[in-house]
Amino acid sequence: MSGPMGDSHRRFLQAMMGRGIVDEQEASKLHQHCCGAQNKQCTPDQLKDFIDAINSQLQPLFMEIRKGKSEDTGQQFYALVNMAMTDVTRLSSDYADNELELFVKTMNLIVSSENGKASSTDILNSTDTLTTKKLKKSETEHLLNRLVQDKWLNEKRGDYTLSTRCVIEMEPYIRTMYQDQVKVCHMCHDIAIQCQICENPTCGIKIHNPCVAKYFEGRAEPQCPACGEFWPHEIPGI
Ligand code: ZN
Ligand code: ZN
Repeated sequence: MSGPMGDSHRRFLQAMMGRGIVDEQEASKLHQHCCGAQNKQCTPDQLKDFIDAINSQLQPLFMEIRKGKSEDTGQQFYALVNMAMTDVTRLSSDYADNELELFVKTMNLIVSSENGKASSTDILNSTDTLTTKKLKKSETEHLLNRLVQDKWLNEKRGDYTLSTRCVIEMEPYIRTMYQDQVKVCHMCHDIAIQCQICENPTCGIKIHNPCVAKYFEGRAEPQCPACGEFWPHEIPGI
């Protein structure tokens, strides 16, 4: 299905351009609003068809509204993705070369860690190895704040993680760049960066925190679903 973009499609796309990423509930509200049908219910199927129709029209522009979920909460999100730039160059209109280099180093730290986090100390230390142009401590802190504000990183108590937007947009890049390190979640098969890992060295499966919460809910003795060893991590609540 492809033709001229309808008014409701255009309104939805404009809203996505302003926001970058919306959760499923907000997408559903936007859909109703853009179709001028505030009182009618919008089913998940209708939302999916609506977004599929927009995506078929976005194809020639190398853009896509892509669905993915938060590694924090398991909640579904929609992000507007630029498919012409598949790596960190997609940030190049907003960030300088040395800032992009530090972002890549931060991604390296996060993806190669066990739990999908990098501390601000580790990120600050990695500025010593920048090859483009050095960043001062204050400049690095300012940059990290901007990356959080622009929804590329999340920060909690001095630990940085990849945001939902970043995971959705960068997933193909991450899968290519970190082939040897990146695993998928044993439960949902999406890429797993923020997760728990089985400590049995011959197993080592990864499970997202929300998937851990769902799987182990109501089980007395948590055992790895792959190898049966005791699951040694704290089980998060749903
Ligand atoms: Zn999962
Ligand atoms: Zn295991």
